[in-house]
Parts: sequence; C-alpha cells; structure tokens
Amino acid sequence: MKAFFDTRQLGHTPEIYYRGGAPTPHPEQPERAILLRDMLLANGFAVEAPQDFGTGPIKAVHDPAYVDFFTDAHARFVAEAPEGALGIPTRHPGTRRGRVPRDINGAMGWWMTDTSTPLTPTTYPAIYWSAQTALSAARDVMQGARVSYGLSRPPGHHAMQDCANGFCFYNNAAIAAHHLLGTWPRVALLDVDVHSGNGSMDIFYGRSDVFFCSLHPDPAVYPTFYLGYADETGEGDGAGFTRNEVLQMGDGEPEVLAALDRGIAAINTFGAGALVVSLGFDMAADDPLAAVQVTADGFAEMARRIAAMNLPTVLIQEGGYLGPSLRTNAEAFLTTFRDAC
Ligand SMILES: [Zn+2]
Repeated sequence: MKAFFDTRQLGHTPEIYYRGGAPTPHPEQPERAILLRDMLLANGFAVEAPQDFGTGPIKAVHDPAYVDFFTDAHARFVAEAPEGALGIPTRHPGTRRGRVPRDINGAMGWWMTDTSTPLTPTTYPAIYWSAQTALSAARDVMQGARVSYGLSRPPGHHAMQDCANGFCFYNNAAIAAHHLLGTWPRVALLDVDVHSGNGSMDIFYGRSDVFFCSLHPDPAVYPTFYLGYADETGEGDGAGFTRNEVLQMGDGEPEVLAALDRGIAAINTFGAGALVVSLGFDMAADDPLAAVQVTADGFAEMARRIAAMNLPTVLIQEGGYLGPSLRTNAEAFLTTFRDAC
C-alpha cells in the first residue's frame, strides 16, 4: 500500500477557533500529519510525493469561484484589513443571494460558515496539496493498486460545494470519488470519521453515481448540527443514494461495528466499482473531540470489514486529533488493511 503526502500540507497553522463563544486552541495542527507520516515510515509504507493535477479536478466538485477565492484570500486579508488580527470571518450572510462582497471580510463570511477555517499565510498551498495527495491516491488505484492512502491534511469532508467549515476547505475525499468516475461508473464514499460528512453529503446529495454513507452521532446533539439525519437520503436523481447511520453519544464498538455493517451492506447493494473511505480516527475514546469509544482493536476490525468488501479502495485521511492513541489507532487500521489485501 502506497501513501501520499507533501510537506507543503504542513503550512496551514491555525491558532484558535471559537467554540462555545470562547477562543479555543485549534486541534487541527500540522503535528497530526507528522505523527501519521512517521508512523507510516516506521511500518514500512512507501510515502510518495503527490503529482500535480491542477485545480481542474477540485473545480469538478466545488464552485470554481470558491476554489479560486483561497488562492489569494490571506494576502487580500493582510492588504485590505490591516486592523484584522486573524483571518477568521465574523459576519455571515445567512441567505446568500446576489453577489460575493468586494470587501474581504464580507467575502470570507460568504465562503466560510464558521470560525474554524482561519486563513494563514500558507493555507492555500496546504489545502491545494492536500487535494493533490487525495488525487494521487485515487490515480494509484485507477492504475491498478488494490488500496492507496492519501495522508490529506487539512481534512476535507466538511467542505461543501461552495463553503468551508469544520476545519475543512477542499473536500479531498469527494474530489477523489469524483475522479474515480473516470474509471468506474459507480463509486461509494464511506465516511467513518466520527463527525457527519456534511460536505460530502452536500456535494453528492442530488447524484446517483456516488453513493454516500456516513457514521456519526445524532447531529441534533453533536456539532455538525445541520446535516446528517437518518431521514436525509438524497434528492432528485440522488434519491436513495445517501445514507446516514446515526449513532448515540458514548456508543461503544458493538454499536459502531453494527452501523458499519449496515453501511457496507448498502454499498454492496448499490454495486460500487470502487470505494473511497473518509478515514477519521476521532472515533477513539480518548480523542480530544471524543464522542464514541473505539479502541485500536476496533479500528483493526473496521479495517478488516472494509477490506473484505474487496473493492479498489482509496483511503483519505480526515480527522483524528492529538490524543494518546492516535498513532496506535492509525497503525492498527492501516497495517490491518494492508495485510488483508
Ligand atoms: Zn471528525
């Protein structure tokens, strides 16, 4: 199993976001990716630099104007809002109608729906190469690899068609899933990050070529809030092609694995030719954003069950924060998946 990673992905260095109205240390730190890369190297994985696919495949799933906004957003913020302390929007339009404001503060609020995606001087190269990493893993599978791992960071699964939120800018997994359609007519995206894949759901909600399934606690009580309910199953051509497996806060491995089995069964029924996994390790009991209680053995069992689907598989890194078991859990999942193929 090859892995892909580019050190430019470390360039996004958010300091804080607002949680419960308080400035809170930002958990999505570059050290996460360094820890995961070092784990890969220690376990004999080949870690390659991604190829450059340009912005075309990113714009295939996102509004092109949204993609372009980030290329110079931080420079604009510095030049146009010198009184600003942090590249965090504090005004949001609610209903977006009319046009993107010329003012950088207004534009940031237009394209970013919360405070968790601060712009730093090298945020753009980080999110660009995070997407290229996902595309390189997809290409590896399209060229015949059984499984490939994109160490994407910053993560992507909360990023919607035209707005950032939840630490996410470009939706790496959705970009990879759409890219795989160049080889297979039907692709599934399975999201096992503990948070609702609200961005992926937004992107594929009206489509029948990508089946989307996410496992996460009830959005009514856990922070994605606005999408991920069990009765949200797709619309139009996409009716029946979205599945939300809703857990409860504090659920243990039996509940998580049962939800995973239901998701796998639904994907098998759909008949996907290839699979993308939005792979978060924040289902860990000791994750700083913990909500359910999966151990290293549980992550290994998840890997075994997903590998047994026997599909060409692109693993895309999502969440999983600097808790005591992050390295152990990632190692358990990825080495088990490799050994099962
Ligand atoms: Zn997460």
